[in-house]
Amino acid sequence: MDIYEQIELQDCPICGGAGLLEEECKSSFYVMCLDCGSHSVNIDFKSEGEKLSAAKRAAELWNTGKVISSHPGE
Ligand SMILES: [Zn+2]
Repeated sequence: MDIYEQIELQDCPICGGAGLLEEECKSSFYVMCLDCGSHSVNIDFKSEGEKLSAAKRAAELWNTGKVISSHPGE
């Protein structure tokens, strides 16, 4: 099953834009905002089996507002 179909992302907690789940270097997931560039931290995975839980963890951080703003101080 497609991992991306199992992950529900809410709108960006900073600007309300669309969030996008991204896989980086086939070793971690993070979520970033297409509008303002805010992002969650990277959640590493070491095997195919850990992939889904890593994606879910990244989505959970995003959905609970634990994101890093690309515009600190604003
Ligand atoms: Zn945003």
